[in-house]
Amino acid sequence: MAKPLVVITGASSGIGAAIARQFSGAGHPLLLLARRVDRIEALDLPDTLCRPVDVTDAQAFREALRETEAVYGPADLLVNNAGVMLLGQLDTQAPEEWKQMFDVNVLGLLNGIQAVLANMVARGRGTILNISSIAGKKSFPNHAAYVGTKFAVSAITENLREEVADSSVRVMAIHPGAVETELLSHTTSQEIIAGYEEWKTTMGGVLAADDIARAAFFMYQQPQNVNIRDITIAATRQQ
Ligand code: NDP
Repeated sequence: MAKPLVVITGASSGIGAAIARQFSGAGHPLLLLARRVDRIEALDLPDTLCRPVDVTDAQAFREALRETEAVYGPADLLVNNAGVMLLGQLDTQAPEEWKQMFDVNVLGLLNGIQAVLANMVARGRGTILNISSIAGKKSFPNHAAYVGTKFAVSAITENLREEVADSSVRVMAIHPGAVETELLSHTTSQEIIAGYEEWKTTMGGVLAADDIARAAFFMYQQPQNVNIRDITIAATRQQ
């Protein structure tokens, strides 16, 4: 039987790209979204549509979904993975950086949920997997605005899970610790980047994106009546 459609935001690098490879390897058709469409096309995965969608653009998100569902049928899994982390101190950080993080990490995630939710509820099945963070559960230095976005993701996940439980739609979250990706590279303070890199070495390195992708697949492949609500996964030596 043909595997159902999986939609992944922020699939052009890091965790999103690893999740795309994992689900493609298991035979799922994919809709991959990111602004850098050349990067998702370069993954070169079969049965995959790649669209240059900024998750803050709700209409573009819905149009890409409609186009893909016409080919592969209804989305059975949405992985809300797109995110930005711009570390900074609140007394000096540019407010535009707070806005970008809340726009992408929170409003972009809500756009994704709204694009798939009505159809999942009507079908009485489907899964929404939000990539939160350990920073959605505890604080870290220079992370104040970022943890604000990730605590929001954790709260939205839990609230939505309760709201749609009666429809048998699963809502779940992964809370990764530090993972080797491009995430840190967008922070503008070189001092903060250097401090973060130093922290990574003190724990003997961090997780690989594939470690998160395996967890995502494990959660999804459970029967629809089994909801692994969240997984927190980090390098063993991360505090
Ligand atoms: P990367 O920077 O490697 O990937 C981020 C992805 O998000 C890219 O594909 C990027 O694509 C996409 N993205 C950013 N802004 C937008 C936008 N406006 N519209 C669409 N896509 C966007 O980082 P990670 O893989 O690490 O991050 C993935 C998720 O994991 C994020 O939500 C992050 O917060 C979370 N996370 C990461 C951790 C880590 O240590 N790496 C730890 C905990 C959580 P493009 O630029 O092409 O649009």
